[in-house]
Amino acid sequence: MVLGSGGPGAAGRAASCHLVLIDGSARILVDAGPGAFARLGEAKLSLADTDIVLLTHLHVDHAGELPGLFKSRAVSGGDSVVFTVWGPAGTGERHQGAYFPSTSRFLDLLFGTKGAFAYLRDFAAPISLHAHDIPAKVEPNPVSQVILSKNGLVITAIAGHHGDAPAVIYRIDYAGKSITFSGDIDAKGLPGLRAIARGSDLLVFNSVVLDPPGSREILYTLHTPPRAIGELARDAGVHSLLLSHISPAVEENQDTVLDSIKRGFQGPVSLAADRTRVRP
Ligand SMILES: [Zn+2]
Ligand SMILES: [Zn+2]
Repeated sequence: MVLGSGGPGAAGRAASCHLVLIDGSARILVDAGPGAFARLGEAKLSLADTDIVLLTHLHVDHAGELPGLFKSRAVSGGDSVVFTVWGPAGTGERHQGAYFPSTSRFLDLLFGTKGAFAYLRDFAAPISLHAHDIPAKVEPNPVSQVILSKNGLVITAIAGHHGDAPAVIYRIDYAGKSITFSGDIDAKGLPGLRAIARGSDLLVFNSVVLDPPGSREILYTLHTPPRAIGELARDAGVHSLLLSHISPAVEENQDTVLDSIKRGFQGPVSLAADRTRVRP
């Protein structure tokens, strides 16, 4: 279930957020972009069964709604709440570009005993958070790591690349079906994506820019254009593509974008909307 199909601009879509249902229950939250809180209710879903949170990176349009969504879970009744959260490691003190905390530090800044929302841990229901930081450095020969394997549910992760923001790509396998989430990704992350997405039933690809020179130069250091999206989907042998994190430029030029992707990729391609439900 796509809860947020948009990006950072307030252009009518909620920002990036996806909920993965396993045997009908909403187990896995992938990113937590602003606006997803409202879409969750509109979709008549709750996070009552959600125990896994996968953050692709810590930009606001992917992580800014976490407090709202956690609180919605806390007040939805039931007993104690336990979330296991995975996300990228931080930049550390010595870095080029912007500073990003690790995912565990990010959660501590929000919900820790001296965090901004420290009260939330014991407000409506006791909340326990288990944080895991995933190395987000792109290696020359990228290898994915299994971060969870339980009752047939397998989640693997690999470093992505998204400008100066540490980023992680996730793949979820269950009952013979698989979904890969690219996250926001630039050209340096594509070898890792190609490796982890191999043979996926569904690849959710964040689509922000037009083919060059259609978008601002700086955006190509952060995102992947349509031509390269199609080529990657073809090379990884994925079965279908869902474009999400749709920018106004992509929305306004969707025929051109789809044509460009289809030059490389022959399988089904669609554009997500908020509350689009896709069966891989
Ligand atoms: Zn984004
Ligand atoms: Zn981003």
